[in-house]
Amino acid sequence: MYLDHMASTPLDPAVLDEMLPWLSAGAVGNPHASGHRAGWRAAEAIERARAEVATLINARPGEIVFTSGATEANALALLGGTPDGWPVVASAIEHPSVLACVAELERRGHPASRLPVDDAGGVDPDSLALTGPALVSVMAANNEVGTVQPIAELARRCRQRGGLFHTDAVQRLATGEIDVTALGIDLLSLSGHKLHGPMGIGALFVRQGVALRPLLFGGGQQGGKRPGTLPTALCVGLGAACRIARERRQTDAARLTLLRERLVAALAAGIPTLRRNSPAEGGLPGCLHLTIPGMDAADSLLDLPDLALSTGSACASGDTGPSHVLLAMGRTPAEAHASIRIGLGRFTTEAEVDHAAARLVEVFTASDHSPARR
Ligand code: PMP
Repeated sequence: MYLDHMASTPLDPAVLDEMLPWLSAGAVGNPHASGHRAGWRAAEAIERARAEVATLINARPGEIVFTSGATEANALALLGGTPDGWPVVASAIEHPSVLACVAELERRGHPASRLPVDDAGGVDPDSLALTGPALVSVMAANNEVGTVQPIAELARRCRQRGGLFHTDAVQRLATGEIDVTALGIDLLSLSGHKLHGPMGIGALFVRQGVALRPLLFGGGQQGGKRPGTLPTALCVGLGAACRIARERRQTDAARLTLLRERLVAALAAGIPTLRRNSPAEGGLPGCLHLTIPGMDAADSLLDLPDLALSTGSACASGDTGPSHVLLAMGRTPAEAHASIRIGLGRFTTEAEVDHAAARLVEVFTASDHSPARR
């Protein structure tokens, strides 16, 4: 049973249907600079997909740069979008793909600072004390605890100082609306596989007029901003996923909120010591991050190999240290190690939630997981 939607979402069958023709032998054709109909057809399909991505966030198609995913989009935004010498500011709970770029910019001589978060993972816009232009990067929603950040206010304050505002919107777009034009966002990253689209494709929105230094060089594809032959099927898949997200995000959000509350109620009834790290209101609808004091989450989940959910953050797989997000929220390393993250998604059912709750209660109340037995 798959309950790890913050790590990756399954491909929507409707997205797959739109991709399949572009994976067949008949769909051969380089979308860039081909002097024949096969290439032109691929190019047209890619431009239609680009327009769908743009529509999801109310941008113009020319402002969308396809990338291999959000890791690359974040690197392009930060390393390619921060003007020489500018300070860079990010929240302390950004995804590692952002934090590592902040560290790299710091190494290159840019002043860098990290905004603190409160015990629910929220950034206080007052903590953004800019004295001049800076590149500010704050995620729209956190991938571990699901906190949704006040990006409208942060973007407004950033622009007031002549800065550039980037948001990693990877987790937000499946169930929430972001209008880059209304919010005055300059750069926005998104990823196909967090939107029920394919893995290996993402995009960076770059507001018209924002200067971007490319990370790759060579063929002049995408205006030179991100050269390289585009994968037609993946671009078409991302476009379809964005269109379906636009159609479904409101109903999906409402349904997932109900499912999440059903799950948390069942878990709290069975595990009285349970603590909720995700915000009770206003967070990502499908995200539930919990601490079960005294439990070793990784150890307990070994007894649930059929339940795909995560300890700490699956995005830092291989990293067994305590989550930087929970530490920034003021939790102790022991609390971080006693935490699990459950991610519900578009195809999760009530029956799955009820079954998962029963299994988790069983495992987390079993005496052989008590600290004395470890
Ligand atoms: N940012 C956030 C908030 C994420 O959750 C992820 C994926 N774990 C990424 C960036 C990286 O995205 P991708 O897998 O497309 O490189």
